[in-house]
Amino acid sequence: EEEVSRYRDDNKIIVFGRNIPKPVLSFSEASFPDYVMSEINNQGFKLPTPIQAQSWPVGLSGRDVVGIAQTGSGKTLAYVLPSIIHIKNQPPLRHGDGPIALILCPTRELAQQVHSVSTTFGRLARINCACIYGGSPKGPQLRELSRGVEICVATPGRLLDFLESRRTNLNRCSYLVLDEADRMLDMGFEPQIKQIIGSIKCPRQTVMWSATWPKEIRTLAREFLRDYVQINIGS
Ligand code: ADP
Ligand code: MG
Repeated sequence: EEEVSRYRDDNKIIVFGRNIPKPVLSFSEASFPDYVMSEINNQGFKLPTPIQAQSWPVGLSGRDVVGIAQTGSGKTLAYVLPSIIHIKNQPPLRHGDGPIALILCPTRELAQQVHSVSTTFGRLARINCACIYGGSPKGPQLRELSRGVEICVATPGRLLDFLESRRTNLNRCSYLVLDEADRMLDMGFEPQIKQIIGSIKCPRQTVMWSATWPKEIRTLAREFLRDYVQINIGS
């Protein structure tokens, strides 16, 4: 217990919520399967970052998470690795099924980055990923989706277009990520996000990430997350 409070103090981790698990101080404590560990080793990562250490045990237990941490703190793997474990615990995709994990991002550039990380870490688990964003032809994106993808990384506008025209669906979606939620709200995506969430009918795990914690983000968390653990790194 003293080790836990020292780790949290040293790394400026502040947690809020009920029944918060201890941070994992090493990758092995997170008990990732070999198909994840081999890619972590491949990347040469030595230790979880503070946001990863505190959010993995929460996310892996199936609970909702709000993570507030600066750019560069390792938030992508904080949600991508639990998404892979979540997917492997679900029945396999069947023909016509939409994604199991949906990752919403504010921009094409971020969506492409996250897609690249998901593809790399999902490869050995045979997880397929699609990247959906506006301002480029729909054909290639529709072909990616039609292969059947477990992970869909998307900007809200183009995804909503595909949902409304029934080119994809969220019938299987049970893991929802809102990345850079503060930027998505700044860019005016709130109505689209609400519409997308409204079309998810399954019970879902929702994890939300942001660099800042303004009132609009707090409202979004209260509206769409349940019994979440909030993790702040830094101030
Ligand atoms: P954020 O989303 O918080 O801005 P990223 O997820 O983009 O941060 O990660 C920033 C960088 O840190 C990336 O280059 C990533 O590969 C690297 N990284 C992530 N996790 C670790 C780790 N545990 N050890 C070392 N580097 C890491
Ligand atoms: Mg990020």
